[in-house]
Amino acid sequence: MQFKDIIGQVEAKKRLLSAVKGNRISHSVLFLGPEGSGKLGLAIAYAQYISCENKTEDDSCGVCKSCLKYNKLVHPDLHFVFPVVKTKKITKEPISDNFINEWREYVLKNHYFSLNQWTEFIADDENKQAIIGVNESSEIIKKLSFKTFESEYKVMIIWFPEKMNKESSNRLLKILEEPFEKTLFILISEDSGNIIQTILSRTQLFKISKIDDSSIINFLIDKHSIEEQEAVNIAKLSHGNIINMLQILGSEENQAKFLEEFSTMMRSAFKGDTIEISNWSKEKAKTGREKIKEYLIYCLRMIRENYLMTNNVSELVQLTGGESEFSKKFHPFVNSRNVPLIYDEINKAHFHIERNGNASIILLDLALKIMQNIKK
Ligand SMILES: [Zn+2]
Repeated sequence: MQFKDIIGQVEAKKRLLSAVKGNRISHSVLFLGPEGSGKLGLAIAYAQYISCENKTEDDSCGVCKSCLKYNKLVHPDLHFVFPVVKTKKITKEPISDNFINEWREYVLKNHYFSLNQWTEFIADDENKQAIIGVNESSEIIKKLSFKTFESEYKVMIIWFPEKMNKESSNRLLKILEEPFEKTLFILISEDSGNIIQTILSRTQLFKISKIDDSSIINFLIDKHSIEEQEAVNIAKLSHGNIINMLQILGSEENQAKFLEEFSTMMRSAFKGDTIEISNWSKEKAKTGREKIKEYLIYCLRMIRENYLMTNNVSELVQLTGGESEFSKKFHPFVNSRNVPLIYDEINKAHFHIERNGNASIILLDLALKIMQNIKK
């Protein structure tokens, strides 16, 4: 991973580059920032830059012996620790190494992902919570006790240290207290409030902010050939989070299917047919959390566009052919009396799905709330 693979974050990249050039590489650093800001990518790019045999001013070379291994995340001095779950295959005290191949494949495919997405990728049962177990610390010690194989530094990237319990945290603390020579710990966190204070005091804080809108807009125009106005809209809905942005892009690919589901949901809500609503929510729940979240983002967009139509600002409306056909009849029901309520309910559903709530109950609840409000 190179710095050029990370969207935006100009300032953070500059600070990391200058730490390397000024020989100020701290032996343990906490990358703290919101979801979808590119923390993991930045950490790997930083490690790759440190290890690169032919660095340029602003990035690793991408082609030296070290970079070639980094490009596949198989460099012998690069180590990862991340939350894992028990599965049918791995039933006892799972550790990161049990999932290292899945991890490499997942990160290389797209390094912007949430803990929920990762958990869904490795778990057989989507209600599992991934954690960093106690056994992980002995693995860390084992790995760090070897001499570095090929680089000056060994790098240990710990993704979501807030997912360690107290005992795991204390063991990690011991390791951080007696630093191994030429070893770099990078902790990547979204919530430092859940990391024990003693670990925080042992690490240097490196704050990473959300992505600015203009970086998202430029990325969409350059890499996805999206028109400027559309790019501005997507950036606004993304809230500086690349995971959101990718879901919005994904939802555009799924538009036809989502439109059908949206119209089923609205039709049964309008009829007040609770049996149909209940069947719909059960079916929809089977599609998995990430698809449901994409769908909810789609719903927000449809509500917004229809509201614009109701208010006769059709020059701002952006709908596909099928959507605008549907919306001709639907839009009069979306008005200033119910829009705030419906918007709020969809956002709430998104929030609860993300926090592993029961999907069919959340969707049923959402559809019932829409039913109460759509005729206002
Ligand atoms: Zn290189």
